[in-house]
Amino acid sequence: MGQIVTLDQNMINMIAAGEVIERPASVVKELMENSIDAGATKIDVAVEDGGRKLISVTDNGSGMDADDLSLAFESHATSKIKTSADLHTISTLGFRGEALASIASVAQVKAISRPKDSLSANCIEIDCGSKGAVNPCSANFGTTIEVRDIFYKLPARRKFLKTANTEFGHIAEQFIRIALPNSAIDMTLSHNGREIYHTNGNTGLRQRISELFSNEIAENLIEAKTDENGLRILALLGKPDISKTNNNYQYIFLNGRYIRDKFISHAIREAYRGSLEPDRFPVVFIFIQMPFEDYDVNVHPTKIEVRFYNTNLLHSQILATLRSKLLATNLDIRAKLPSEQTFGSELRHKEITEAMSEFFKKYRTVTTQQRFNFPTAGRHTAYSPVSEKFPPPGTGQASAFRKFLQIHDSFIVTESEEGFAIIDQHALHERIIYENLCNRIKNGNLESQRLLLPASFELTDAQTELLQKNAELLEKLGIEIVPFGPKTMAIQAFPTILSKSDPVDFIHDLMDLLADKNLFVETDRLLEKILDMAACKAAIKAGQKLTDNEIEQLLADRFIVECASRCPHGRPTTIKFSIAELEKQFKRT
Ligand code: ADP
Ligand code: MG
Repeated sequence: MGQIVTLDQNMINMIAAGEVIERPASVVKELMENSIDAGATKIDVAVEDGGRKLISVTDNGSGMDADDLSLAFESHATSKIKTSADLHTISTLGFRGEALASIASVAQVKAISRPKDSLSANCIEIDCGSKGAVNPCSANFGTTIEVRDIFYKLPARRKFLKTANTEFGHIAEQFIRIALPNSAIDMTLSHNGREIYHTNGNTGLRQRISELFSNEIAENLIEAKTDENGLRILALLGKPDISKTNNNYQYIFLNGRYIRDKFISHAIREAYRGSLEPDRFPVVFIFIQMPFEDYDVNVHPTKIEVRFYNTNLLHSQILATLRSKLLATNLDIRAKLPSEQTFGSELRHKEITEAMSEFFKKYRTVTTQQRFNFPTAGRHTAYSPVSEKFPPPGTGQASAFRKFLQIHDSFIVTESEEGFAIIDQHALHERIIYENLCNRIKNGNLESQRLLLPASFELTDAQTELLQKNAELLEKLGIEIVPFGPKTMAIQAFPTILSKSDPVDFIHDLMDLLADKNLFVETDRLLEKILDMAACKAAIKAGQKLTDNEIEQLLADRFIVECASRCPHGRPTTIKFSIAELEKQFKRT
């Protein structure tokens, strides 16, 4: 006898539920999406025991009449598509007609619905696939669906549910993903009778972000927008101050649907490169609008992944939008002084106040007179200026730095308009050199100078070959190397801007980079690494005493170099303190 049988419909639904309904949060997602598709302007979600006991979603949407209410729980029953052509232009969140059938196959479900024009409501109950009759009842316009005791007939799956807190965490995350792109809809989420989120329908996106996350996040977002090639992008980009240790705060929405996409994630990472340390992740909200026919949502059961027909365009437009905004924005870190409420004790408050007054006692004002008493011409200087455009003292930008102070030969404290800033001299100089190198290489005007005494070094055959293979790159960098004897080469010319670093030492590190196969694949990345390394070597170091002239020049260059607020490694170059914070600390306000 044959071994094969066709499964009954309930088994089919249960198997489908395995894909769509992973945990209570999946039910919340599907039900909320249905409410949105039904045109609701208000959605209330109430759960008990992390959704294990009850999930209830009430909306004021279009509702369903008696026939539809019964049909809605059949598998492949949907009002959202009719023909295969509709599959290419899906504008609703749902379309597979699977969710309600799947949910009802693994839990006790009660649905009450009343269409807009109807005098009465109807209700239906389904217990793990066995469907009762539709009965009239009384209810407001819209739909309520209650899902109790999920997986209660499937002990193996029920056992996999985590604690109420964990399950509620997943529910809250789903709620956030739906609430964010639908900022015109009033939504609440409550757990065990306590309201956790309430987002108002008419207060806008930033307010919604502050309600769902925090004021701190909402206040530290930079907005970038583009509308080109039929692609509309709105991005709210978290400043580096609020970066995270993981990727959980990266929200991408496509036509109102939360999605994950590795190309978009890559574009975000690239856009922030140099603005963030490598192990930090930005807070990002990206809302993409594009024609429905430009992508396929029918590739993943929960539709969290989609297939774009023109990934390259999307990638480059997102990267360009984000990158240009981030580069044009001053991303200096703002120092956070503890507020009074957060002081552990009076003692700590006193300690901080004393430390600050101590600091200001030492703070001296450098006058223009003092600074120009010491001519530096002809003597060896630690800092070689990169800008020729430095305005004469007392005019324009220079007057912004009337006051500064080098502390511990490593940091420069300078007065700024809003208060004062502490600058990491190495990090800033490194960034200046890096940007300068990039610009010069781009414009082909990287000057190099002939060394009075060629610097010779020994190398292996493999290294010789490596240098020969990269002759073009060396030329681009302004480095001239000639054979000098058996297994010996000599550096004859070296970039002027790197004159502070040792040429031989530089070439050795360069060869290490060239030998790194991973970097070799992407030429841009390799060049970037080389410039990065060059800038680090040539920059003034921490612990190096600077003359007033040098400091002044360094501060001036800061404004000439684009994006000078971060060193190439992504470490901050500057930390700002506002006078308002200081006044608060000194109890002046
Ligand atoms: P899909 O959303 O993919 O169409 P579902 O199983 O989620 O499939 O829902 C089946 C149908 O039930 C929907 O197409 C819709 O017509 C109806 N429906 C579900 N939820 C609601 C709701 N909250 N309000 C009005 N109609 C709904
Ligand atoms: Mg649905």
